[in-house]
Amino acid sequence: MLSTFTDVEVEYLCHGVPLADYQPTKADHRRQQEAVRTHEWVQRQVAKAPPWTEERRERMRELLGPPIPPWELQRWRLRLYCGHIVEAARIRKSPRPDGGVCDKEACPECCLDPSVIVAFEPLGPLADPPPKKRSQKPSRPSRKPPADRRSKAELAAENEALRAELQALRDQM
Ligand SMILES: [Zn+2]
Repeated sequence: MLSTFTDVEVEYLCHGVPLADYQPTKADHRRQQEAVRTHEWVQRQVAKAPPWTEERRERMRELLGPPIPPWELQRWRLRLYCGHIVEAARIRKSPRPDGGVCDKEACPECCLDPSVIVAFEPLGPLADPPPKKRSQKPSRPSRKPPADRRSKAELAAENEALRAELQALRDQM
């Protein structure tokens, strides 16, 4: 069942609080190693890939869709594997900040990238919703990618690859 973002009521989870005292577990170490391996693999694929065509960029923009408005985002305080505590935003409807491929960040303090999330606590919405719902702008018909038939792992891998490519693209700019 799909619920709309604006009406969603989510019970946000906490893990490993107080964040400052959290001691990484064996599972955390393993997740970090896996994240690093995946990251390196993706970097190698990106390095081998031909430069982006305009068509491909356009496709990427379509895939990403319009930017998420700030009131659809929830702020989190995260403790990363490296021990630094940072803030990050995630989709509001998600009860925890480390689902799927979002379970890591590039640490702004020590630049460890990726640094998996080992503990977290919710802070609050990034912004208040706009005053009174206006008539929703007719969004352009979203072409649904044939996502349903693919496995979660495939999607996660693709997502990871796209993120890395985006990052590579940003680095070029
Ligand atoms: Zn760090």
